[in-house]
Amino acid sequence: MPRNRSGRSVIQSAIDIKRWQQQPPTVVEARPARCPVCGAASCPLGGAIRLQGHGRRERQVWGPTSPDQPPEVLSVTARRYRCLDCGAVLLVVPRGVLGLRVYSAAAIGFALALWGLVLATAAEVRRRVGPAKILGDSAVAGWATLRRWARDVAQRRLFSDAPDPGPSASLRKRAAAVATSLAASADPTTRALPIEQRAFFGAARAA
Ligand SMILES: [Zn+2]
Repeated sequence: MPRNRSGRSVIQSAIDIKRWQQQPPTVVEARPARCPVCGAASCPLGGAIRLQGHGRRERQVWGPTSPDQPPEVLSVTARRYRCLDCGAVLLVVPRGVLGLRVYSAAAIGFALALWGLVLATAAEVRRRVGPAKILGDSAVAGWATLRRWARDVAQRRLFSDAPDPGPSASLRKRAAAVATSLAASADPTTRALPIEQRAFFGAARAA
């Protein structure tokens, strides 16, 4: 269970970012079925609600909303719940928002594909994925965030379902392996798209 810096558990909803923004779910719609910490059912049959609404919280989500769009800074309203059984505070976010990361899963998958498969430079990846108003316009040769993602992939802290290309693989080879696997997991309707776009859509479905 991923926990953010304040120790709360983060849960991905089945609702994706776009739908969540258009129509933010109510406290009832976003309520998890059970507490991921102690396992208590949130609405036991015939009993009182155990996962109580605990307010809302603005979460930033960075990156393009579609592979052909410029990167943006979005704000989504995450919902918080408190477990009356164990006291845990849970944060429910849209699908495609990763607990500890400000970039969307889709943006990270896209970046790894651009770097690992399309062989774009780090500066080019940054231009396609990093919101300009966050990064500023200073020209930078590398992009530390991109290398951090590739290292996290290598250490199985990001997209850990992807196949491991072996201990001798370079960071870029690892980025390529994970991007290929994300692209393969994208919806079949994306088959005609370039592989980096399929990696975007596959990553949006990855937890
Ligand atoms: Zn609990």
